[in-house]
Amino acid sequence: MSTHTKFYGNESLRQNLRQMQARGRMAHGILLHGAAGLGKKTLAAQLIAGMLCQAEHAPCGNCRICRMLEKQQHPDVRWVEHSGKLGGFSVETVRSVCADLAIPPSEGDAKFYVFADCDAMDPRTQNLLLKAVEEPPDYVYFLFTAESPAVLLPTVRSRIVSEAVFPVTEAECREALGERGFSPEACEDAVGVFHGNIGRCLAYLEEDAMRETVTLTKTAINSIIKKDEYTMLQTAAALGKDRSRAMQFLLLLDRTIRDAMVRKHQPNAPCIGCDAEGASLLARQLSSSGAQNMHLAVNRAYAALAANVNLPLALSALCAACMDAGTASSLRSQKKGRKLL
Ligand SMILES: [Zn+2]
Repeated sequence: MSTHTKFYGNESLRQNLRQMQARGRMAHGILLHGAAGLGKKTLAAQLIAGMLCQAEHAPCGNCRICRMLEKQQHPDVRWVEHSGKLGGFSVETVRSVCADLAIPPSEGDAKFYVFADCDAMDPRTQNLLLKAVEEPPDYVYFLFTAESPAVLLPTVRSRIVSEAVFPVTEAECREALGERGFSPEACEDAVGVFHGNIGRCLAYLEEDAMRETVTLTKTAINSIIKKDEYTMLQTAAALGKDRSRAMQFLLLLDRTIRDAMVRKHQPNAPCIGCDAEGASLLARQLSSSGAQNMHLAVNRAYAALAANVNLPLALSALCAACMDAGTASSLRSQKKGRKLL
């Protein structure tokens, strides 16, 4: 986690954090929320480094404290350990955090507990933490990162400051990727798929698995366009047993369905998904209610995977629903309407 490299975009959020710090009024609980890849954890690490580094332009990236932070070896900063298949936090872990709160910091005057990626943090562990978040010792700060603010209970959320992290512009994203040594062509390719999400663009450029997931998504979209259920089933099977990869696939698929819905009305509207061409073709074929049904089917599959439902089962239900939605959705909804009457 780099504590001092340039952070692109999100100027007003960073300004808010800087002001809180300058006034000595840093919130003791902060949730940074936004899609995966937007830099929430990097921002949390930089916030911590800014408060702990004693250099004039903190974080300096060079001092003993910054070096400890960079290696995640600072004794007063705990990136709370995940556990379980879904990546939540165990009751024992949260209890150990609560027990640790009373011990003053050993290096500086602040102690940090980072609950990163807390999307699967269950209500029970949140309730265990509630009292600590309500009345933490003066030196304790809690940082949470999640894709959606709704993952935290209203009781927890009401005690902390929630800040949204947004994608950067495509130009900023190209610059950030170029700075890391990628060719203009590679940057353009990645930005065409993941737009202003620097983390996702990097994963696309650096990880075979991410590139394959994008390819599978495009194949699935193509098979919906061609009404080819067999290929779509094969595509879903190619995702294997990797739940998080399947969820990434569903997110990408859903974005292209949303793009298709938008492009039905505005053919040249900018895309948020990975397949602009597929979105345009899909827009020509789908009725609005068909697109809506497909979107709902993807959401159902996503919720099923998040709830640990059997993966092949959830995906084959999705394939059938997509084929259905792509063909006679408007006709069927008319019939259904008649039955209800
Ligand atoms: Zn430093």
